[in-house]
Amino acid sequence: MKRARRYTTPAIVMRVVPFGETSQVVHLATPGHGMVAALIKGAHRPGPEFQGGLALASTGSAHLHRRPRAEMELLRRFRVEEDLRGLRRDLERFYGACHVLSLLRLWMRPYLPAEALFAAALTALRAQAAAPRDRVAGWTAWFEARALAAAGHRPRLEACAACEAPLDPTARLLFSAPAGGVVHDACAPPGPSLRLDEAARQGLVRLYTARLPELKREPLDDSTVKAARSVHDIFVPHVLERRPGTLDTAPRA
Ligand SMILES: [Zn+2]
Repeated sequence: MKRARRYTTPAIVMRVVPFGETSQVVHLATPGHGMVAALIKGAHRPGPEFQGGLALASTGSAHLHRRPRAEMELLRRFRVEEDLRGLRRDLERFYGACHVLSLLRLWMRPYLPAEALFAAALTALRAQAAAPRDRVAGWTAWFEARALAAAGHRPRLEACAACEAPLDPTARLLFSAPAGGVVHDACAPPGPSLRLDEAARQGLVRLYTARLPELKREPLDDSTVKAARSVHDIFVPHVLERRPGTLDTAPRA
């Protein structure tokens, strides 16, 4: 894709690393350019552009300058457009946001557009900052579901993910990470799996299919959030082929 040398894009700050005496390297999530690594020269010097450096999870518009032979772009300006200070109100929200940012980093590729993933992260961070505290775990699981779906790993929940035959709601069902969804007891391949009852399966179907306005009107119930947490605890590391450290502190219902 041919890209302009100077461009402006919506962005979320996923990672900030001090660089040299006064600079920072930031990893930005963007909808149209995927992950962008950029240098902020003199980020810690007082000045109107960066006010002492960019904070993690800052959300707004980034003015970038691509340099043909340089590894990193230059971040000329970052206009913070959303107040997400709510994320620092308590540990629940803070750890939830850290988990969203860490998954975003693992799933975003340099210069590969990721509109759905970006939009889901923005929605999740806003909700984690503003929602009642007991809903934070639900929004964290919601982001995982949207990110898994955007990456092509939406779990199979309506029929057996192994043999494709219909599921019997009265029989014993498992969620199997290697099968990629719900399976009959006898169909489960070796690897991480857990027991799932019919109510939890239906809750997961709702998590993966309900539209955003409906979920805002009627949030996920606690038992669904618990089931989603347990399923994602085994499924996210399976899909990523590594266990994100932020999983241990992800908010729980
Ligand atoms: Zn089966």
